[in-house]
Amino acid sequence: MTGANGLSDEFPRAETVDDFVRNVASVRARIAAAAHRVGRDPAEVRLLPVSKTVPEDRLRLAVEAGLHLLGENRVQEATRKYHAMKDLDVEWSIIGNLQTNKARDVAAYAAEFQALDRLRVAEVLNRRLEAAGRTLPVFVQVNTSNEPQKYGIQPDELPEFLAALGQYPTLKVQGLMTLAIFSSDAQRVRECFIVLRTLRDRMRYEAPELIGPGELSMGMSGDFEIAVEEGSTVVRVGQAIFGARSTPDSHYWPGMA
Ligand SMILES: *Cc1c(COP(=O)(O)O)cnc(C)c1O
Repeated sequence: MTGANGLSDEFPRAETVDDFVRNVASVRARIAAAAHRVGRDPAEVRLLPVSKTVPEDRLRLAVEAGLHLLGENRVQEATRKYHAMKDLDVEWSIIGNLQTNKARDVAAYAAEFQALDRLRVAEVLNRRLEAAGRTLPVFVQVNTSNEPQKYGIQPDELPEFLAALGQYPTLKVQGLMTLAIFSSDAQRVRECFIVLRTLRDRMRYEAPELIGPGELSMGMSGDFEIAVEEGSTVVRVGQAIFGARSTPDSHYWPGMA
């Protein structure tokens, strides 16, 4: 559904602390219901609120409502918010593609990086982290939808990629991350999540030392319930918490309509 402002009515905009508390509770209830449908414990699923495009004044309300780790797709935006909100108890998770010239910022302050898909980035990040005396939890992004324009390594590249990450001791592999295909066909979306889980399970069997805790970061506002049913341990949810975004997704994912 589209409202008068051209934005989806499906995602009510949070403007007050109470709105945030309500939206988060509603997302958590849906996570719990999805987990229970498949006999999982909802406590296995971490909710990562994604705050891209949301301005600082509303983020302050979100922090007041109890959100203390926020996901940002773009490093530049994350860095600006990090500096502006240093007075608050809030940390930043970088979930989007990283250019090597921004690795220094990520190494300096990020709490985690979820979109690692190039060894060149791993190398530069490792160097910056060593200089900063820090380590960084990372997720390897996998392209599970077979769409050429999507970020992420190909599934068959994963074992070699994880083995190569062993050269970079500051990067602490947590598991895998993916974006499902953008499709209204729930079965096609589900298949992407199954690909990621199967890959994780195979790595656990073949080389468990390379996959760390084996987390699965998958699921966004439009598909997190399916992701939880398929084993997600981190859902990255923006619009269902903050409200509909006016920025088209093509801004973040090349090739999208
Ligand atoms: C924006 C974004 C999300 C969240 O998308 P919503 O539709 O707002 O839930 C998840 N993952 C990544 C990588 C994103 O950039």
